[in-house]
Amino acid sequence: MQELTHFIDGKMTKGASGRFGDVFNPATGEVQSKLPMATADETNDVIARAAAAQPAWGATNPQKRGRVMMAMVGLMNRDMDKLAEALSREHGKTIPDAKGDLQRGLEVIEYCIGAPQMLKGEFTDSAGPGIDMYSMRQPLGVVGSIMPFNFPAMMPLWHVGPALACGNAVVLKPSERDPSVPLMLAELFVEAGLPEGVFQVVNGDKEAVDAILDSEIIQGVSFVGSTPIAQYIYSRATATGKRAQCFGGAKNHMIIMPDANLDQAADALIGAGYGAAGERCMAISVAVPVGDETADALIEKLVPRIENLKVGPYTAGDDVDMGPVVTREAQQRILSLINQGVEEGAELVVDNRDYAIQGYENGFFVGPHLFDKVTPDMEIYRQEIFGPVLSTVRAGSYEEALKLAMDHEYGNGTAIFTRDGDTARDFASRVNIGMVGINVPIPVPLAYHTFGGWKKSMFGDLNQHGPDSFKFYTRTKTVTSRWPSGIKEGGEFNFKAMD
Ligand code: NAD
Repeated sequence: MQELTHFIDGKMTKGASGRFGDVFNPATGEVQSKLPMATADETNDVIARAAAAQPAWGATNPQKRGRVMMAMVGLMNRDMDKLAEALSREHGKTIPDAKGDLQRGLEVIEYCIGAPQMLKGEFTDSAGPGIDMYSMRQPLGVVGSIMPFNFPAMMPLWHVGPALACGNAVVLKPSERDPSVPLMLAELFVEAGLPEGVFQVVNGDKEAVDAILDSEIIQGVSFVGSTPIAQYIYSRATATGKRAQCFGGAKNHMIIMPDANLDQAADALIGAGYGAAGERCMAISVAVPVGDETADALIEKLVPRIENLKVGPYTAGDDVDMGPVVTREAQQRILSLINQGVEEGAELVVDNRDYAIQGYENGFFVGPHLFDKVTPDMEIYRQEIFGPVLSTVRAGSYEEALKLAMDHEYGNGTAIFTRDGDTARDFASRVNIGMVGINVPIPVPLAYHTFGGWKKSMFGDLNQHGPDSFKFYTRTKTVTSRWPSGIKEGGEFNFKAMD
C-alpha cells in the first residue's frame, strides 16, 4: 500500500505522527493509500519553515514571481494527463471533469503571471510642497489554505497562485480525501522555479487545521468547504487577529420562466445538476419552473435525458457522464436524504436507489435522481445534498420563484432561463446571491473576475481570484514623504500646505 507524504522544504516528506487516514478509490471502494495526519507540533514546524523562506520570496521582484507562474502553466500542460488520472483516481470524477478542474485552476495561475501589474501601487505627485504620497501592496507573510475535496486542483490553485504571486509563503492543508494532486502541484511549483520552503503542504485533519488557526505566525487564512466548518474557521481565525475568507456550501436555484427555451434549460440542468455527480458548489440542485405547464413540460424533457446518463468509473472512458461520490459516508448520506424526501411527500420521478454497476458493486456510486413537487419545508430542500439529486420546486409566479431563491440560507449561485430581457435584468439586480447566470446554468466567473457567494455561502469580505485575491493576500502601506526635507528649514510639518 502506497504511503503518501507531506511536502516540506521542497521535498516529499514522510509523516512522523504514526497516525494515518485512508484514501479510497471511490470507483472500487478500495483503500489505495495511507495519508499521514500531522500533529500540531509537525504543523507548527512546517509553518516556521515557511516563515524562514518567506522574506527572500517577498523581496523577489514581482516580474520574477510572474515568471514562476508562467513556467508553472507550461508544466501543468505538460503533465495534464498524469495529473488528471491521479485526480480521478482519488476523487472519482471523469477524466474530462478532472481536466476541467485542472484547467480552471490553471487559468488563475495564468492570471497571476500579471502580478507586476496587479501589485502596482498608487502615487500622488506634489500632494503638498515637496510632498509626495504613495501606497504599496506588501505580502502578509505566511498564509494558510484549508481546502475541500471536490476540486482538489482548482481550489488550491485559486488560493496558492495569488498568495505566492503576492510574495507570501503558503501552508496548504488539502482535503484528506484526495491529497495527491496538491502534492504533485507543489512539486511542479518547485520545478517552475519557486524557492523551496515557500509552498509547504501539510496533510491532516482538525489537529493540523487548528494549529494553522492558532499559529501566531500565520497572518491570513483561506478556507473552502462546508458551511458549519467555514463558520468555525472564520470565527477561530479572526479571534486571533488573522485576516480570513471562508467559502461555504450552496443550494443553487435555477428559475425556468414559461418563455424559456425548454430544451436549452433541460440540457443545462443535466450538466449543472448531475455533472461531477453533483459534487460542485455551483451545481444546480433546485429547478424552479414557473407555472404548472412549464413544470410538466420540463419534467417530460428531463426524464429521458436523466435516464440516458451513463454512470461509471473514470477508467471506462470519455463517454461516462458521471462517476461515484467521494466516500461511502457521502453515498449513504445522499441515499438517506432521498429516502427522507420520499417520506416527506416529494415525488421521486427518477428513482435509482438500487443502482449498482457490474464489477463495481463496492464503489460509492449513486445513480441520478429527480424529485418533483418539493416544498421549502422539506429536508431535501433545506440541506445541501452534494450528490446527483435535482429537486423541482414549482412556483406560481416569477415573484414567488425569486422569493424562494432569496429566502434560502445559501447564496452562492443562481440562474434564470428566460427570453425576456426585463425579467432577466430584474432578477440579476434584485437577487441576494453572489453569482448569477442568465441562460447560463453554472455562472462560474473567469479568473480575472472574482468568485464568491453571499449569505451562509461566504464569511469574510474579499472573493476568490481576480483583483480581490491580490487585495486579500496583501496589506496596503501608504507613505507620505517630503523632499527636500523642509523640516530642517521650516520646522513643524505643515499639514495645511496639503489642503
Ligand atoms: P469540509 O468542510 O468537510 O472540509 C473542508 C476542509 O476542512 C478539509 O480540508 C477538512 O480537513 C477540514 N475540516 C473538516 N472538518 C473540520 C473540523 N471540524 N475542524 C477543522 N477542519 C476541518 O468540506 P468538503 O466535504 O471537503 O467539501 C465540500 C463542501 O465544500 C461543500 O459544502 C461545497 O459546497 C463546499 N465548496 C464551496 C465552494 C465555494 O467556493 N463556496 C467551493 C467548493 C466547495
